[in-house]
Amino acid sequence: MTTRSGIGIDVHPFSTDPGRPLVLGGVHFVGEPGLEGHSDADVVAHAVCDAMLGAAGIGDIGQHFPDTDERWRGADSLVLLAEAAARVRAAGYRFVNADCTVIAERPRIVVARDEMITKLTAAAGGPVHVKATRPEKLGSLGRVEGIACWAVASVEEV
Ligand SMILES: [Zn+2]
Repeated sequence: MTTRSGIGIDVHPFSTDPGRPLVLGGVHFVGEPGLEGHSDADVVAHAVCDAMLGAAGIGDIGQHFPDTDERWRGADSLVLLAEAAARVRAAGYRFVNADCTVIAERPRIVVARDEMITKLTAAAGGPVHVKATRPEKLGSLGRVEGIACWAVASVEEV
């Protein structure tokens, strides 16, 4: 049984539109400023998507869900994640697991972590773990200009 791993990194700046919701790992953080992006700008779902696609060796999220395609405007990124998992299966691989670390000065991720894990796991069709760290006020992420997420994923040949 051959197992392969992939990495995914995503960063989104905060939006200047006060009406934009913040969605991380499929969870809406009520009252928090949203991130800029073509879809719902869910950096966590995007990083997991990229890690999964990379593990299967079938490109990246921008290639599968281009931001020039109106179908993905405002898209629920959990739908993109489920679609990425389907494309991984179609390429002959089974998603094994993913782990990710959200890098955010705010909001506090821990309050919604279990819900994020549940939603990401359901969309990906296998266990997705979520961790978070604060950049300790360093750099652009520390100045709360945006949120980043790193993920790794494993798939195995079926
Ligand atoms: Zn993204």
